[in-house]
Amino acid sequence: RAKEAGRNRCHFFRQDINDQAVRRLEMEAALREALVLQESGGGAPFELHYQPQVSLDPRRLYRVEALVRWTHPRWGAVSPAEFVPLAEECGLIDRLDSWVLETAVAQLARWREAGVPVPGVAVNVSAARFARGDLPDHVRAVLATNGIPANDLTLEITERLMMSEEIDVHDGLDALHALGVTLSIDDFGTGYSSLGYLKRFPVTELKIDRSFVKELDIDAANRPLVRAIIQIGEALGLTVVAEGVERETQHRMLEAEGCAVGQGYRFARPMAAGALADWLQGEGRHWTGHQPGACISI
Ligand code: C2E
Ligand code: MG
Ligand code: MG
Ligand code: MG
Repeated sequence: RAKEAGRNRCHFFRQDINDQAVRRLEMEAALREALVLQESGGGAPFELHYQPQVSLDPRRLYRVEALVRWTHPRWGAVSPAEFVPLAEECGLIDRLDSWVLETAVAQLARWREAGVPVPGVAVNVSAARFARGDLPDHVRAVLATNGIPANDLTLEITERLMMSEEIDVHDGLDALHALGVTLSIDDFGTGYSSLGYLKRFPVTELKIDRSFVKELDIDAANRPLVRAIIQIGEALGLTVVAEGVERETQHRMLEAEGCAVGQGYRFARPMAAGALADWLQGEGRHWTGHQPGACISI
């Protein structure tokens, strides 16, 4: 009996692995197809949503982060947590990131044309996009095409990429820094513990990973960690952004610890471009002008 049960279980596992492999292959093919469609202008399976980052004191819109969304004709919305890693593995992420960069900067220009005072936009840059080497040129061209100052663009780069031994991060980061874009370290605290790169590289911002913020107001052990990260930022003159702020209690604690900027459902969820413009005019928010440099109190 036990043997039989074992065999059955084994069978189940194999079936499961097989299903996963099939789904993966299907998804890879669909992703490839979606990207071709998007690049050729024949359709728009990808869309960007924008999530506000809010300076905490005084409370103002700091910038928005562009987050990619994919809608499949049969599967519906697929989570980036699923398709971004897959796009990385099958060598498609650099093309997707290029599209995201172009689209986000063009959107910023469109908001400004329409008088919507969005101070800046951040995009996520994968290691593969970075490694291609043409990122600084591409960034320069995209900014020029849209008439956006480099200052108003932020590139979010993971800590893991900073530590890469295969990719020459140094020259790339220097070239991007020379352009004047802001370099931000995404998911800070989840990569490697060596902090030497913080002074070697021209980064100006740290994003505290959501995993540290998640239980900030529940598990007492998180507070000293978050405090330490904020102090590292302070000591090195880096702006600290906390991601995944969901509750008022987390918000208050971050504020008390001197965190400069927050991002999370507490303030706003990621939204389509049109919805963001509406949100910015919603209750309790007011614009102090329509020119560049104008700000939105929220
Ligand atoms: P990330 O860059 O760390 O982005 C933050 C993620 O946290 C987003 O998930 C956002 O929707 C989510 N989030 C924000 N506030 C809250 C909150 O209060 N609570 C919770 N539970 N979640 C919150 P999303 O959009 O699913 O993206 C997941 C990840 O996928 C991103 O993490 C980023 O690593 C990657 N990604 C998204 N867009 C792109 C892209 O255009 N290019 C690349 N290379 N990666 C991307
Ligand atoms: Mg990010
Ligand atoms: Mg992040
Ligand atoms: Mg994160």
